[in-house]
Amino acid sequence: MTRPPALFVSHGAPTMIIERTPAREFLAGFGAAVGRPDAVLAVSAHWDTSAPAVSLAERPETIHDFFGFPQELYRLRYAAPGAPGLAQRVAELLQDSGFAVERDAARGLDHGAWVPLMLMYPQADIPVTQLSIQPHLGPAHHHRLGQALVALRDENVLILASGSATHNLSHVRRHALNDAAPDWVNDFREWVAAAVAEGRDGDLLEYRRLAPHAADNHPTDEHFLPLFVALGARTPGARGRRAHVSDTYGVLAMDAYRFD
Ligand code: ZN
Repeated sequence: MTRPPALFVSHGAPTMIIERTPAREFLAGFGAAVGRPDAVLAVSAHWDTSAPAVSLAERPETIHDFFGFPQELYRLRYAAPGAPGLAQRVAELLQDSGFAVERDAARGLDHGAWVPLMLMYPQADIPVTQLSIQPHLGPAHHHRLGQALVALRDENVLILASGSATHNLSHVRRHALNDAAPDWVNDFREWVAAAVAEGRDGDLLEYRRLAPHAADNHPTDEHFLPLFVALGARTPGARGRRAHVSDTYGVLAMDAYRFD
């Protein structure tokens, strides 16, 4: 039986889909490397709600939730079918673990979900639904969400958590697309990679206190929180591992992780 990993990917700037970068190249091959799931549960930093919500949309629209970017980006559509059955299953699993869950009848896919999916599964023929994050509830809450969803992996569902390994947008403008990362970015990302490889989940949950330059790399932590969903959904006892490392605009680490 196939048991897909839970993934964390960095979706970068919305322009990633049209820019030639190592991260884009990596994602374009990552779907084939991971294999084809029966359905995808996307968990993006760009759908923030007060309580966990799932989308029941049968044909999720492609949401262009960014402003001032090249016109060609606004013409892109990711026309994968929705997965309302999976959304109900997600809601039930979360409710069984004590979460109050909202069901959204119409929510489409934001760019945190469709940009990586368009690269990983360009045929857009795998049903997909999305689960929201709750930035005010922090890492431990998202880790528990992931733990509640681990059974989905036995049902050949790919949990695709999408955020950014580092995300200080105030520094992006100072850098060109292919600039290498400064030390304060590298120190943080290597701390994270080591903690994942060594299975130090407790340290990761306390990353804002323990990791070097945590607040510089994540002035707010919504783009890091999806990582904790993927971390929580790994097989107990298994270790995660970094599947990709590269930079865009110097300060956006594009690292990806897989949790088998
Ligand atoms: Zn983003």
